[in-house]
Amino acid sequence: MKIKDILGQGKPTLSFEVFPPKTEDKYESVERAAAEIAKLKPAFMSVTYGAGGGTSRYTVDIASTLHHEYQVTALAHVPCVSSTREKVHEVLEELKAAGIENILALRGDVPKDGTVASDYRFASELIREIRAYGDFCIGAACYPEGHVESVSKTIDMDYLKQKVEAGCDFVTTQMFFDNNILYNYLYRIREKGITVPVVAGMPVTNVKQIIRSCQLSGTYLPSRFKAIVDRFGDNPAAMKQAGIAYATEQIIDLIANGVDAIHVYSMNKPDVAAKIKENLSEILS
Ligand code: FAD
Repeated sequence: MKIKDILGQGKPTLSFEVFPPKTEDKYESVERAAAEIAKLKPAFMSVTYGAGGGTSRYTVDIASTLHHEYQVTALAHVPCVSSTREKVHEVLEELKAAGIENILALRGDVPKDGTVASDYRFASELIREIRAYGDFCIGAACYPEGHVESVSKTIDMDYLKQKVEAGCDFVTTQMFFDNNILYNYLYRIREKGITVPVVAGMPVTNVKQIIRSCQLSGTYLPSRFKAIVDRFGDNPAAMKQAGIAYATEQIIDLIANGVDAIHVYSMNKPDVAAKIKENLSEILS
């Protein structure tokens, strides 16, 4: 099923993200985790893709397993900055052959050594190409706090509009910890005439990952969350419980305020995904 149709049903949706392994020996355990999350029957599941290109095969394989074995709608991430046009077309062919209908089209992070393939500079170019290529439902990334490389939030939003005009059907946000940031962003993007559904990306990972990723992306950490990290950061079990509670509260507030599409960065953790789903059981029914 296409994600734009799932999001168009006018009711809250809960979806989860998994990331493929970097090496073959970890494949089975990741596939098992993805299968456990799939059994929770989320609205869809996204499968990330290392921009360096090493994990493209696993992205397609895991998305395909979710689709065929668990009947869960899969969203395959496809970054382009390190890919040639030929490589991108190869991946699109593989996705098509596997029956995957949904792609999150990304530029990807520029590798540390700065080497990029010269075929694509921005996600909008990839989106335009996928739109012309076949009948995929296309998503793109968006940044309520502005993309880290962007000169200003206004310019970043101009480029988001370019992505929508190039043919994307929905956008998924970078994680955020303060809902007011999203409410403000939604107001501004609607004013700008961007009307596609916005899927809210919710963080629930381990504390080290969160802090590193917030430093890299410039994501604001509210003092309420920092206090949780200060108090429980050295106790993984307590931190996990507090992180799930924090995310649950954030999600309930989002849904209460009409933000129905919730995507949890569950990072291959079936127990976290299950707990979040359980916490929302009546809200999602
Ligand atoms: P773009 O939309 O191309 O934007 C990149 C930068 O260029 C921005 O600063 C933008 O303002 C600017 N820009 C855009 N268009 C123009 C233009 N025409 N002229 C000048 N400047 C322009 N990375 C991965 O490697 N794999 C993943 O699976 C992955 N999944 C992600 C999922 C989500 C929901 C999000 C939010 C991010 C994900 N990322 C992933 C990270 C993402 O690839 C990086 O944030 C990357 O730096 C930007 O990708 P983008 O698609 O947003 O790029």
